[in-house]
Amino acid sequence: MIEYKLFIDNEWRESQSGKTISVEDPATREDFASVQRGNEADVAAAVAAAKEASEDWGALSPRERAGYLRSLADVLEAHSDEMCGIITSEIGMPRAHVFDWHVAAAISGARMYADIAEAYEYTAEQDNYMVIKEPFGVVAGITPWNYPLTQATTKLFAAMAAGNTVVLKPSRQAPVSCLKLAECVLEAGFPKGVFNVVTGVGGEVGNALAAHPNVDALSFTGSTDAGIKVGQLALTTVKKITLELGGKSPLILLPGGDARAAVAAICSDVFMNTGQTCCSFTRFLVPRDRCGEVEALIKEEAANYITGDPGDEATVVGPLVSEAAYRKVKGYIEAGLSEGARLVCGKVPEELTDETKGYFVEPAVFMDVTNDMTIARDEIFGPVISVIAYDTVDEAVRIANDTKYGLAGCVFGNDRTQAMDVLCRIKAGYLLLNGEIPDDSAPFGGYKMSGIGREGGVHGFEEFLQIKSISLD
Ligand code: NAP
Repeated sequence: MIEYKLFIDNEWRESQSGKTISVEDPATREDFASVQRGNEADVAAAVAAAKEASEDWGALSPRERAGYLRSLADVLEAHSDEMCGIITSEIGMPRAHVFDWHVAAAISGARMYADIAEAYEYTAEQDNYMVIKEPFGVVAGITPWNYPLTQATTKLFAAMAAGNTVVLKPSRQAPVSCLKLAECVLEAGFPKGVFNVVTGVGGEVGNALAAHPNVDALSFTGSTDAGIKVGQLALTTVKKITLELGGKSPLILLPGGDARAAVAAICSDVFMNTGQTCCSFTRFLVPRDRCGEVEALIKEEAANYITGDPGDEATVVGPLVSEAAYRKVKGYIEAGLSEGARLVCGKVPEELTDETKGYFVEPAVFMDVTNDMTIARDEIFGPVISVIAYDTVDEAVRIANDTKYGLAGCVFGNDRTQAMDVLCRIKAGYLLLNGEIPDDSAPFGGYKMSGIGREGGVHGFEEFLQIKSISLD
């Protein structure tokens, strides 16, 4: 059993609540770790440590802060095997894929933000005024379980590189990788108070951070419902807020597009990480006269996504993260059938019993979906693709935008001008042409109810700098 305490001011401390939380391995349904159930007093201690450290950390040169981040990247790299093992245990991501999907971006992200911090122009002079960009002070991060390490590192490495100190509340479902990260921060020699982790329950630790008057900026990643609550609380003390929320993103296959390539892209996008990816293209918009072709291709492709024991080299799809997630995804597959969609891959998951070993759900594909069905409207957060037929490109764009979300989108077409035109008409923040994934320096974030602000690259870095102007005599 792995055991961790809270990480505050470079010390491992027990929570003042005296309580712990067990962390379950979703592939075995057995507890593999225990962490502290932090409370408001722990948050106060962590914020005080971060505030105390913020002046000195903010006063270091960008080059000095970059040096710490580069050391952290090296330490993370040296511990990457252990980190991979932890992430496989906490969310069930297969061992064969966990480094590429979960750990590599944390290492490269530390190096990227070191480079950005060094190269960034923090001051600019106009005719009669000067603009200075400087850190906020203390940044709180509240993060989900689906990419438990990188959801934290993407925001907090940017925040620290920009000169802020941070307090992180990871998801109680998968907090262990972030505590391992704290171990790496300590080994990399960061000054005390720069990076702090308080584990616990969202409504307790998350709320306390959002409301704390000495937290200057809040960066939240999670569901839209929780983001609204946390954002409202953060505004009671007028904090800078960044929200990275849910999605229900479309992939449009244009009439002349490469169906085989589009099918390969959508299966990878929706089935990897067991469909638990915010920007997954879960609505597949296909010209009506190509639906038969797409159905045949998708059946062939989905068969490659072998579901099972994450320790097995052949496994591509591990379990869902929890019993609640399993019941939710099962309910949506049942809803799809009852609303008249046709299930062509996968099946309705069985009832859980005491004998059920893990939360395994086979990748599922529905044909004959219409955009008003529940499975086309709600974020399922499981390996489920809904194929929706369209008659004209204008109709495809209308369907793509007929959602409260606006996180991502993708277009496959053989006519680049037409594909670019359609991409520009999609109301979303992160778009791919023919499935090409940009590097991590591209800005990422949502329109509409998918969020406020951006992560990644220079745009993500700038979220953690505030702007001051000085008029000159
Ligand atoms: P979640 O339930 O909203 O939880 C996210 C984090 O917020 C957790 O740490 C959670 O704590 C905390 N929290 C929940 N309710 C809270 C409240 N009322 N006050 C304060 N904190 C609260 O989301 P999730 O199930 O972990 O993650 C899945 C969701 O995240 C999906 O909707 C997905 O689309 C979204 N997501 C978005 C992005 C993006 O970049 N746009 C990236 C990844 C995931 P607990 O420990 O108590 O759960």
